[in-house]
Amino acid sequence: MKLHAIQTGSVRIKTAQVEGQGRGWRRRLRIFADRQWTDWLPAYAWVIDHREGVIVVDTGQGAHLLETAASLHPYQRWEVKFRIERDEEIGPQLRALGVGPRDVKRVVLTHLHIDHDGGLAHFPHSDVLVSPGELRTARGWMGRARGYLPHRWPSWFDPLPLDLAPDAFGPFATSRRVTSAGDVIAVGTPGHTADHLSVLVEDEGITYVLAGDTSYDERLMLAGRLDGVSVDDDAAGATLRAIRRLARDRPTVYLPTHDPESAERLSHSRLVEATRDSGVVQVFRPAPQ
Ligand SMILES: [Zn+2]
Repeated sequence: MKLHAIQTGSVRIKTAQVEGQGRGWRRRLRIFADRQWTDWLPAYAWVIDHREGVIVVDTGQGAHLLETAASLHPYQRWEVKFRIERDEEIGPQLRALGVGPRDVKRVVLTHLHIDHDGGLAHFPHSDVLVSPGELRTARGWMGRARGYLPHRWPSWFDPLPLDLAPDAFGPFATSRRVTSAGDVIAVGTPGHTADHLSVLVEDEGITYVLAGDTSYDERLMLAGRLDGVSVDDDAAGATLRAIRRLARDRPTVYLPTHDPESAERLSHSRLVEATRDSGVVQVFRPAPQ
């Protein structure tokens, strides 16, 4: 099995979106008052070259969405900046890896924000798997009001429901296998959106967490800091705790979508513990015997 990181352009967001201030609706409102922008952050999509067929996790941004920016949701017009060229979309980058559109058997979406579903148009022949709850949240006029762009989905978009069972996988309460081999597993990681999920890939004793937007980087996950947009403080906090527990219990590589270090962390299989300074490592190591 081989995992690839594909950077589909970059985003800039408010610092109060990356690291939330306060709780609940106040935390979400702070973003609008914040005048400070982050640097350009990557928007990664992931390719799992699996013997059961290629699986793509998230599809990244789409240049076509920006070409008609005037009709984007006000949040995307004013609170987020996107940058992507057509040849940076996931389709051309997959072809450069030797992966054609018909080679991709499944596409799993962690959630339906536009920097994750913007490349869907490249996968008309694949099974697209989405959490039914996320789909309900994103579709229709209510979805548009929440900042999703359901009217920009490809006309053929009719995803298969990725129903997570109340079947715990490690510290995660809900899960579902994506491969017959059981080495690619979707797990519920609610918080950033109510039905956000992450994809775990188990390979040679290491668990790779394709984490979507559970946090914007590893430091924030370890510190248990919520982002600015999470819909549910308690769920988001519990998700970050579950990821820390996973990293304590097994060798884990944490790969959030917008972490500038994700690609390098993947290429070196750099574990969560290995990147911590000594003070923090102690917190997550099992107690000595
Ligand atoms: Zn998101």
